[in-house]
Amino acid sequence: MKKLIVANWKLNPTSKNEAERLARSVLSQGPYRVELVLAPPYVWLESIRRMLRGRATLAAQDLFWEEKGAYTGEISGKMVKNLGVTYVIVGHSERKVHLGETDEMINKKVLAAFKAGLKPILCVGERERPQSHRSGVFQGPIGEIIGSQLANALTGVPKVKIEILTVAYEPVWAIGTGIPDTPEDAMSAAIFIRRIVGKLYGTAIGRKLRVIYGGSVNAKNAASFINEDGIDGALVGGASVNAQEFFKLLKNL
Ligand code: PEP
Repeated sequence: MKKLIVANWKLNPTSKNEAERLARSVLSQGPYRVELVLAPPYVWLESIRRMLRGRATLAAQDLFWEEKGAYTGEISGKMVKNLGVTYVIVGHSERKVHLGETDEMINKKVLAAFKAGLKPILCVGERERPQSHRSGVFQGPIGEIIGSQLANALTGVPKVKIEILTVAYEPVWAIGTGIPDTPEDAMSAAIFIRRIVGKLYGTAIGRKLRVIYGGSVNAKNAASFINEDGIDGALVGGASVNAQEFFKLLKNL
């Protein structure tokens, strides 16, 4: 399976012209050796979809758990699915920090994503950087944090759906800080995540789970993460809204 690169544009850019320019410059310089997914803000999804022509797919950055009704300001999975969106990011730490998103809300969103026929990219990760080197760190509190994030988010999710789930290991201390995790430690995290999912759904399912890394990935360091056998791709924030940087990142893989 190709490695997955998800470009999380977050709250950028602020105009449709800029969004189209960014998408055009990335798409026109391909093809790339990876599966490319663009996650623009909702308002640019439609116009970016028209530009894709099979060169990338789309992710929504979030969804609401109800399909329709009196929920002012929210966007449902069905709405974005009907726009031609394939993936949806769920449980991003910026939503936890700025919008108070809880494990319970994340679980409802994961279930809603599957119901809408979207492929969730579920973000998990610890807030504090561990003091000591990562080896064995998952035996302690960090393991408990990630284990419970996964178990809570996946409550009620049937086994068959795990095939289309991606888990993004995103240590919060590495997001937008310019301080990435090391590829070795991200790899230990991926192994740990597969083990937890294996405990929940069976070892064979855990082993096949797609796990990607996110946190200050850029053109210089992307290959060191992606080249790890057990890391199936990257969720890229800041570097994905700089066309030159993102193009270099993709070409280096
Ligand atoms: C993210 O948005 O998930 C992310 C990892 O951001 P950055 O690459 O800027 O750290």
